[in-house]
Amino acid sequence: MPDENKDKKYKLLHDRPGCIGCSACAAVAPDFWEMSDDGKSDIKGGKDKEDGWQEKDISEDEFQENMEAAESCPVNVIHLKKLENNEDLI
Ligand code: SF4
Repeated sequence: MPDENKDKKYKLLHDRPGCIGCSACAAVAPDFWEMSDDGKSDIKGGKDKEDGWQEKDISEDEFQENMEAAESCPVNVIHLKKLENNEDLI
């Protein structure tokens, strides 16, 4: 069976409770981010966690666009980690 996670190198994280709904992430990285009916953004296909955060594992190809989304966030609620060692990248 193919290992769907073998290409995943980073974890994309969204501190959704802290999101102010400015839409910058969805404008910068529309393949990965969308605005929700409650005015906050969602990671497309992301997993909702009990604490309100969302997360999704992404590949090298998907990294740059999400880094730009994170850099565009005025309240710094988008984070990226390396999966191999949990290193915080932003
Ligand atoms: S850029 Fe940040 S504050 Fe703005 S919608 Fe995206 S996650 Fe929320």
